[in-house]
Amino acid sequence: MVVTRFAPSPTGYLHIGGLRTALLSYLWARRNGGKFVLRIEDTDKSRNSEEAAKAIVEAFKWVGLEHDGEITYQSERDEIYAKYIKHLLDEGKAYRCYMSKDELSELRETQMANKERTRYDGRYRDFTGTPPEGIEPVIRIKAPLTGEIVIDDGIKGRVSFQAEDILDDFIIARGDGSPTYNFVVAIDDALMGITEVIRGDDHLSNTPKQMVVYEALGFKLPKYYHVPMIHNSNGKKLSKRDGATDVMAYKEMGYMPEALLNFLVRLGWSYGDQEIFSFNEMRELFDPSNINKSASIYNVDKLDWLNAHYIKNSSNEALATLLHEYGVDIHGHDKKEILLDALKERAKNMKELAALIPSIIETPTAYDDKAVKKAFKGEATAILTAFAQKLEGAAELHLPSDYHHEMESLVAEMEIGFGKIGMPLRVALLGEMSGPGLDSVMAIICKDETPRRINNAVSALL
Ligand code: GLU
Repeated sequence: MVVTRFAPSPTGYLHIGGLRTALLSYLWARRNGGKFVLRIEDTDKSRNSEEAAKAIVEAFKWVGLEHDGEITYQSERDEIYAKYIKHLLDEGKAYRCYMSKDELSELRETQMANKERTRYDGRYRDFTGTPPEGIEPVIRIKAPLTGEIVIDDGIKGRVSFQAEDILDDFIIARGDGSPTYNFVVAIDDALMGITEVIRGDDHLSNTPKQMVVYEALGFKLPKYYHVPMIHNSNGKKLSKRDGATDVMAYKEMGYMPEALLNFLVRLGWSYGDQEIFSFNEMRELFDPSNINKSASIYNVDKLDWLNAHYIKNSSNEALATLLHEYGVDIHGHDKKEILLDALKERAKNMKELAALIPSIIETPTAYDDKAVKKAFKGEATAILTAFAQKLEGAAELHLPSDYHHEMESLVAEMEIGFGKIGMPLRVALLGEMSGPGLDSVMAIICKDETPRRINNAVSALL
């Protein structure tokens, strides 16, 4: 069975790059009917892991990702790590190193002066003598010191390192007994039965160390997929300066979860030239071996384009529910359908959509000067007054087409062009020149409110 994982270090929020690796891991597990597990890498106990887990679960919930089973916290697994450290010591695959801090810096200085790579020199590897006093020994694992380390990466292909270039007997437990990062990642991935590790390629240099731990304990290696980073348009790694990094900030900015997921899955992965992927499609089609080898570029225009697409194609019911989150309640509005049909084509994000609604359903309290100057010329007020009277005298009007018909009849009677009524009517109804089609606006605000707004404007602008 395919088992993937997302293994964030606690930061208190879920980073957009993190969501991307979580999504890819999730999709691959779902595509294979496998499991996707969540592990909080909170060995640094000064950070609040519960809060971090909560933030991740909240973000997962917003976008619709689900992890399987309980959340694993590394901070609760000290005994497990201690057991494996002891096992490695007993087997002679790890050893205590009594090197003092001063000795270590001396070694570094010498290596630097000789232009050598700074590395531990193995001086306690075969030590059998009496340990020096007053030193809490660290525990080092015996790493291969020569030969080739090969990662058969699912994205990058064969990546090979020379052991002497990258390895030394690295520390797996500190002087206080606490285990180190690469050690616990390897132990947990192995014990949690992770079959495929999909993570950012900033971890590629950690992988050989983790492989040393696997090897020493006789665990079966997972398949690794190291996903290239997301870059900004300047080709640099995406940072806070490039916009929001916290996933929940995307919600605040008005992005739809579907758009964000679609955007993230397409960062570096493609399926023919298809751009739009529903969540279901992603779960059916995603394959990490098709991820691009090079970094992907974060393009906010693309995200906005996708967001507009998903807003436009959402049901009005779904939009009305989402709008609650942006402070707008139109569930009870009897012209909800016409209103959302008219507006959803015009909004790039939910915040914009939420802001457009009062601009239509609320009576304007001011009129844009420039628009007034442009629209209220010549017979404008006479035309508007005639139209208001026409509406007042009309039978039931409901649909945009009913209002359109009234306008048609007025322009025919007065022998004027549509433009003559369109511009001043727009300013009278909305206070400005922009907005959706007037037929829809009138159908939304209804038969009584339309002449009322016209008459208000005429008296205010006379
Ligand atoms: N905890 C690591 C991080 O947040 C990820 C570890 C991994 O995926 O192997 O960067």
